[in-house]
Amino acid sequence: MSILLIAEFDQQALKAATRSAITAATQLGGNIDVLVIGQNVNAIAQQTASVQGVARVLVADDAAYAKPLAENFAPLVQAIAANYSHVIAAATSFGKNLLPRVAALLDVDMVSEVTKIIDASTYVRPLYAGNLNATVQTSEAIKLLTVRPTGFTAAKDGEQSAPIEIIAAAGDNALSRFVSENIQVSERPELGTAKIIVTGGRSLGSVEKFDQVLSPLAEKLTAALGATRAAVDAGFAPNEWQVGQTGTVVAPDIYIAIGVSGAAQHIAGMKESRMIIAINQDPDAQIFQWADYGLVADLFDAVPKISASL
Ligand SMILES: Cc1cc2nc3c(=O)[nH]c(=O)nc-3n(C[C@H](O)[C@H](O)[C@H](O)COP(=O)(O)OP(=O)(O)OC[C@H]3O[C@@H](n4cnc5c(N)ncnc54)[C@H](O)[C@@H]3O)c2cc1C
Repeated sequence: MSILLIAEFDQQALKAATRSAITAATQLGGNIDVLVIGQNVNAIAQQTASVQGVARVLVADDAAYAKPLAENFAPLVQAIAANYSHVIAAATSFGKNLLPRVAALLDVDMVSEVTKIIDASTYVRPLYAGNLNATVQTSEAIKLLTVRPTGFTAAKDGEQSAPIEIIAAAGDNALSRFVSENIQVSERPELGTAKIIVTGGRSLGSVEKFDQVLSPLAEKLTAALGATRAAVDAGFAPNEWQVGQTGTVVAPDIYIAIGVSGAAQHIAGMKESRMIIAINQDPDAQIFQWADYGLVADLFDAVPKISASL
């Protein structure tokens, strides 16, 4: 059995989500080749080579890969996929954009959002916003999987470095073109990998209140800020802060839900958190059914007092 895993990275480092996907791949057994696609990615390739469980790093370095355009990456993955029993990527926006295209090019069914590996062809994945866990089996010769990073711990660096091989690029197929990107620079930890998350709901009432009430608490706890979809739709928080079924799925050590009702679509994105703390003025709010600790209080009164006392 041999596994091809597609690496995701930013300018500086391999993403934690890819490290989690490597852990998932080690549970399948077999050799793991990690494919690094980009331009001037030598440093990332070196980093990847030192991750525990990686047998080999393949590098496709080309101007066509300067930006992660799935339309250019997919034919490259397709070209080498026949050498592998499994092709894996993390279930991030990047992986969810790329792998279905590879599946279409290879004409195979893929399995998405895997949370548990049972054996080489059997996996667990959530259905109905996480209300059901389905055990699915695939008989495809090449098994394509996206794996949910929250289901697997991130692989650490090992003591040895895997060999690095350069492979031929597949070029620019001119189906899409990179126009621009708008990256939010923040001192706070990234939502997907933060150990503590402070999430606010629609009840915060405005973008100013969202910042005024939640930021001091997040700063004291070195936490990432999250938001419900209702808060995002109301313009109180940016899109990338949304936690839930149609936002980011998170599993921090501590999740603090403030003025959050606990709708099923929100719960789907945070219920794997190790500890859930809820503050809500309604004692019957659904969020309390999921909370390890609950405080029935007016958030505008309670949260500043908690922040001040830390
Ligand atoms: C297809 C689909 C996908 C969706 N995806 C997502 C998703 O990914 N993420 C997501 O979050 N939602 C998602 N939603 C929306 C979801 O159904 C809820 O509407 C949303 O989560 C509610 O957000 P909320 O808890 O901020 O707001 P509300 O439901 O309005 O709840 C506000 C809460 O604040 C409390 N409150 C009010 N004032 C105070 C106060 N002063 N002090 C303390 N507590 C107070 C209230 O008691 C209430 O419980 C989705 C919906 C659909 C249909």
